[in-house]
Amino acid sequence: MYVVLLGLPGAGKGTQAERLTKITGMSHITTGELFRENMRGQTELGKKAQPYVEQGLLVPNEITIGMLLDRISQPDCSSGCMLDGFPRNLEQARALDEALAGQEKAIDRAVYIKVPNDELVRRLAGRWNCSNCGAVYHETSNPPRIEGVCDTCGGKLYQREDDKPEVVRTRLEVNLGQLEPLLEHYQKMGVLVEVDGERDIDAITRDVESLVEPA
Ligand code: AMP
Repeated sequence: MYVVLLGLPGAGKGTQAERLTKITGMSHITTGELFRENMRGQTELGKKAQPYVEQGLLVPNEITIGMLLDRISQPDCSSGCMLDGFPRNLEQARALDEALAGQEKAIDRAVYIKVPNDELVRRLAGRWNCSNCGAVYHETSNPPRIEGVCDTCGGKLYQREDDKPEVVRTRLEVNLGQLEPLLEHYQKMGVLVEVDGERDIDAITRDVESLVEPA
């Protein structure tokens, strides 16, 4: 199955994708983490993406689409994957549809995790990420067992630069403007489902799991 997780920054896409990957064995592809990896390694792609990521702006489509299509052409995505953070606008969604159609495949589900804006700001402010495996934690709603240490791999936790309040506001505005057309796109394709993302993490995982199980 090819699944896209939709939602504003902080909605829980990364947390849910990570849990779903463990349960279903699906590959989890996250464009934000691909950019951060490239930035850490100071690759050409990382250097190009860095100024946009730091300001909370979308990295231009000509960089992002190529990177994502290249990643999903790898063998671990040949029978499906879960995309988190892509597509973020209509042009990206269309490029993805076209690439999949070329292999007689298509997006099977678009799961929209819906959370009100004021809750998103609170969540992003308390968020901690693993510097090694990218796992996501929250100070109060999803704390690691040992402060500052990843439960999954023992890596060191850090707070993302773009989770600072000034950048968070830009990220929310940028993404809010693009979300509606994306929801319409997947609605028209008949694959859109909405999940209430304000509940307990396990309840959301159960919902998303039931939605991404093959029919
Ligand atoms: P995220 O971890 O999903 O919040 O993404 C972090 C940052 O990476 C975003 O604020 C953007 O600068 C960039 N980014 C991630 N995914 C995309 C995308 N699909 N299109 C453009 N920029 C992206």
